[in-house]
Amino acid sequence: MADRSSKNREGSHSLTTGSRAPQQDQSLPSQRHMQTNVRHDAPDSEPYHDALSSRPSAKRRRSSASEMLKDTIHSVEAKISSAFLLLYHELPDWRRDNPSILSGYRPESNSYVDSIRSVFEVHNESVNIWSHLLGSLAFLGLFVYAIHYGWEHVVDPRYETATKGDRLAFACFFLGAVSCMGMSATFHCLSNHSQRVQKWGNKLDYSGIVILIVGSYVPALYYGFYCAEDLMAWYGGAIVALGLACMAVSWLEYFRQPAFRTFRASIFVGLGVSGVVPVIHGVFLYGYTLMNHKMGLNWVLLQGILYITGATTYALRFPEKKWPGRFDIWGSSHQIFHWFVVAAATSHLVGMVKAFDWNHGVMSGGCHL
Ligand SMILES: [Zn+2]
Repeated sequence: MADRSSKNREGSHSLTTGSRAPQQDQSLPSQRHMQTNVRHDAPDSEPYHDALSSRPSAKRRRSSASEMLKDTIHSVEAKISSAFLLLYHELPDWRRDNPSILSGYRPESNSYVDSIRSVFEVHNESVNIWSHLLGSLAFLGLFVYAIHYGWEHVVDPRYETATKGDRLAFACFFLGAVSCMGMSATFHCLSNHSQRVQKWGNKLDYSGIVILIVGSYVPALYYGFYCAEDLMAWYGGAIVALGLACMAVSWLEYFRQPAFRTFRASIFVGLGVSGVVPVIHGVFLYGYTLMNHKMGLNWVLLQGILYITGATTYALRFPEKKWPGRFDIWGSSHQIFHWFVVAAATSHLVGMVKAFDWNHGVMSGGCHL
């Protein structure tokens, strides 16, 4: 039994982290996976079964159940292997980011066509691509509807006081949501192209997050300080300046080393949290209830909670850090973060629509109750 355990540990190790130096392996990915599976089959040899036959039957049942489970896992892995996916230890250094995601990596494509084609295959970037591709298309559809149909048929007949300022405020939000999720989906799609493309794609990804945060604050400040234009301008300018600082951190090479990963995430959370200052100021000036009406504050706060929860999950790399290899294809921290971004943007949009309704419906575009 001790023999078998040590063999299994060896087999498991070879599946997940590998026992060979990755740079020395020149064989095809599919061949490499076949070799990996062969090592797993080793414990099923005759001497191993002979040794088992002398054990109590309960242990044998447990053992056969665990063998069945392993067979199932092997067959799933074999399916993934057939798509020529790589294991973490087979990646070059520039692609090694999360050691808790053990498998499901696309090979380096060096081809935009191949990377785009992989959007329709299952690998560890599939959810990251589709979550933000669909999110981007949904917000783009809403934007086109709002501008070309909604404004003329819904807004104009109901709210005569609506202005170009309102259009601009909503356009900022939609621009932020569409470009953030669009850039993110593009980055995740092309991240296996080459080191050069992955590098600028990653910068685009971070820039998109900044554009979304700033684009979300603009309409919130516009409606929150609808009747205090000076404050609107000051806070608006400050948020844009902070956003530019975040962009600089994203694009400067010094801050892009893995050691600064948590630092970068913290700066982004800082940009998000910076919106707390004008909100507290607004509550101090108008009281919570009125500020909630003016800005859709409940929904804006929900948006903040969703962003912070998503960013924290991302920074902690939960759950894959606790259970390495279990969330390679579905359910890793980055995927969870993506869904939180979609949910946060949706919450913000609901808040902005409510703020618009209050300022132009109840208040008729005026400033006195
Ligand atoms: Zn992402």
